[in-house]
Amino acid sequence: MELLFLGTSAGAPSASRNVQSCAVRLESGEYVVVDCGEGTQQQLLKASRAKSFRPSRTNLILVTHLHGDHSFGLPGLVVYLDNAATEKAPPLQIVGPVGVAAFLRTALILSRTELKRGYRVTELATPAPTGGGAYEGAALCTTAPPVLHPDERAVSEVLAPNDDGMFALELLTGCSLTAAPLAHGSIACVGYRLQEADAPGSIDAQRAAAEAERAGDDARRICRALRECSLNNTERLTLADGSELSVADGFVGAVTRRGRAVVVLGDCCHAGGVCSDATRRLVEDADVLVHEATLDDAFAALALERGHSTPADAARVAARAGTSHLVLWHFSPRYRNDDAFRTTFTDAVRAHFGGALTLALDFDRVAVPREKKVLPPAAPPP
Ligand SMILES: [Zn+2]
Repeated sequence: MELLFLGTSAGAPSASRNVQSCAVRLESGEYVVVDCGEGTQQQLLKASRAKSFRPSRTNLILVTHLHGDHSFGLPGLVVYLDNAATEKAPPLQIVGPVGVAAFLRTALILSRTELKRGYRVTELATPAPTGGGAYEGAALCTTAPPVLHPDERAVSEVLAPNDDGMFALELLTGCSLTAAPLAHGSIACVGYRLQEADAPGSIDAQRAAAEAERAGDDARRICRALRECSLNNTERLTLADGSELSVADGFVGAVTRRGRAVVVLGDCCHAGGVCSDATRRLVEDADVLVHEATLDDAFAALALERGHSTPADAARVAARAGTSHLVLWHFSPRYRNDDAFRTTFTDAVRAHFGGALTLALDFDRVAVPREKKVLPPAAPPP
């Protein structure tokens, strides 16, 4: 698993940073793009020229919310990925809060855009935002227009949250996708968790084949069953002749590979590190937590007013979640990548969080290692 940051500026681009987007490369080689501010397709083009992104391996776009710095590049990105896909590619999947289907459908219909692979949208029915300044017209726009784009493969599915306030989506192989609502002023916003399935230890295929021959069983079936035993902690496997194999007896390598978890949050206000129960469950024990830090802690009151977080807010969330690696992004364009910026943001985090820290800039890549690091204690507060 690896993250590739394509845009890390909040609200508007800066001279060196584009607006929000990142791509997550999964173990399967597939990519998932999270958010797509204006110009994301240009960023992806640069990344694919540098061989750090494969548009043809991208079948899923996750939109955290419809603020322009996260969504204005969506129609262009859909077209870009459509151009890169083969005729046989499955429809592009798009997930986002309610309104994303109408936004995309309107743009594609009015621009007379034709797509060869088609697309399908899943909208997440988040609770109504409680932040101030609700924009009344937005609710009316979420259902228009009533006509599907010719390449929209099905009426958008609107997914309700589970009893725990979270959304569970079955869109990837070997990796689960969950989402949780985030508090971000007057707009519906979500965060996403990509969680790999645990992988079994290596199977001794030669021994399994010998046992299969002895018992008149099928070697491939035995290997498959051994993998399941490894994942489910089942100790014994019954063969065709009724004999049993002890899984602990060297047929399966001892180590079951732990699945890794990457959480990418949309914009959110976590003043003082306080977040909802659903968000806490989403970020719990993540290997990498990608969290916004729009303004530094000297502007904490302004960040709160605008529904954003500071580096200290994000660090507190990461520390409580037990995450190994905190990645900050979504920096106001007022910040340049200079020593003052790095020192301010790093010091604010270090007062609360002792794990790995990245201040992500455009085209930075963050690998997600298999082994979770044990966190050193955070520095004591000054
Ligand atoms: Zn926003």
